[in-house]
Amino acid sequence: MAKKSEEGITAKKEENFSEWFTQILQRCELTDIRYNIKGFLVHRPWAVLTMEKMYKFFEETLQKKAHNPCWFPTLIPEENLEKESSHIGGFTPSVFWVTKGGKTNFQKKIALRPTSETAFYQMFALWIRSHNDLPFKIYQRANIFRYETKATRPLLRDREFYWIEAHCVHATEKDAFNQVQEDMQTTKEVMHDIFGLPFIFFERPSWDKFPGASRTFAADALNPDGKLVQQPSTHMISQKFSKAFDVKFKDKNGKEKYAYITCYGPAISRIFASVIITHGDDKGLRFPWEIAPLQVTIIPIDKKLNKKAEELKNQIKKFATVKIDYSDKRPGEKFNHWEMKGVPVRIDLGLKDSQKKKLTIFRRDLNKKEIISEKDTTKTIQKISKEFTKNLIKQADKVFEGRIKGTKNLKEIKSAIKQGTIAQCGFCSVEKDGEKCAEVIEKHVGAEVRGTKLDEKNKNSGKCVICRKKANHIVYIAKSY
Ligand SMILES: [Zn+2]
Repeated sequence: MAKKSEEGITAKKEENFSEWFTQILQRCELTDIRYNIKGFLVHRPWAVLTMEKMYKFFEETLQKKAHNPCWFPTLIPEENLEKESSHIGGFTPSVFWVTKGGKTNFQKKIALRPTSETAFYQMFALWIRSHNDLPFKIYQRANIFRYETKATRPLLRDREFYWIEAHCVHATEKDAFNQVQEDMQTTKEVMHDIFGLPFIFFERPSWDKFPGASRTFAADALNPDGKLVQQPSTHMISQKFSKAFDVKFKDKNGKEKYAYITCYGPAISRIFASVIITHGDDKGLRFPWEIAPLQVTIIPIDKKLNKKAEELKNQIKKFATVKIDYSDKRPGEKFNHWEMKGVPVRIDLGLKDSQKKKLTIFRRDLNKKEIISEKDTTKTIQKISKEFTKNLIKQADKVFEGRIKGTKNLKEIKSAIKQGTIAQCGFCSVEKDGEKCAEVIEKHVGAEVRGTKLDEKNKNSGKCVICRKKANHIVYIAKSY
């Protein structure tokens, strides 16, 4: 019997998504939930190698757009959190507190950062003097701690997770809004065009904003069970923050003004969950070429071919990451193993093929085998490397587009949600007075109004699905994690 770690994926993604996801995390050796603090996850090498690459793409893109890196302390004094009461109102229940150092009880509690606005902004007050300092754009990669009271779920809701937080200071509200739009564009460039994840960027309704934000925008990705996963969000922070932390600058006329702040937070470990979920299939993982922990495996089916495998490896390592599988598993087991692990390209070296100077290439984007001449190996793999992610994007976009449904009343919303799709409909207002209609939907369908798309926020669209008053917006409704 096969050892446990070598078992394949037996659950079907579309039939039993939850079990499928659990099996993928365990059997592909991505994470381990057996660490002895609840909600704290061990991330294993196959996951970290991928997330390191994901970090790199996000950070490089941010730096190209004039954000500079910094590292802030993990600990934040309670007084910082208290400075902005609506902020602390939003986060206090989920803060881990440090109350002791060695044998000494602290007089004042210290928080493990649940997010770092209150750490950054006090420093902004010291660093920013004049309009010449603006825009001021910095970010950090960091782990974040939140005492989640809902059921935790590996990579989707942990009590410690890994993200990037970018905090920017601007002279005007207009500049702040431009930053928010730049953040949305960054999300598209990295999360969609490199990681291959389809999503919709919503402006959240006023009752669902980030605590302390005047406007919140968030990208939602979709799981096969019809639930949305909130991915990067970007916020226009209310000026209450710059007032609370005294973030001011002198304008061109020497007049002192409060700044406008924005923050943007792509959570790498959660985006990694969407990479697994969006591209994985019943055989296991599939990674986009650019972030795959390993891009090519070579399987010599006979020891006599080891030398040839080494020659190929030396040739391929010039443009891709490559490993030879010398383990003593049977060839069939090796094939299944690397398909499950999501390696984009596999080269099978057999004796018969070799006599004819040929070899077999298996590509995981199309799950297809191809026999090629040995001399064409480099050319073929380079060609696949250029097509690979594009193919995954095409497949993922097609699934996503098929899962948005126009609806006209509560009954149609119910049926759309039941089928695991996102319901689109006319809605009276995403300001305070629409909250009652959102509550009706939540009560009868168990789904939430996720928000409006910026390009169609003010499109006239008939009547509100609930109160039948004039619909000022098109909104999207779905279940979420
Ligand atoms: Zn209404």
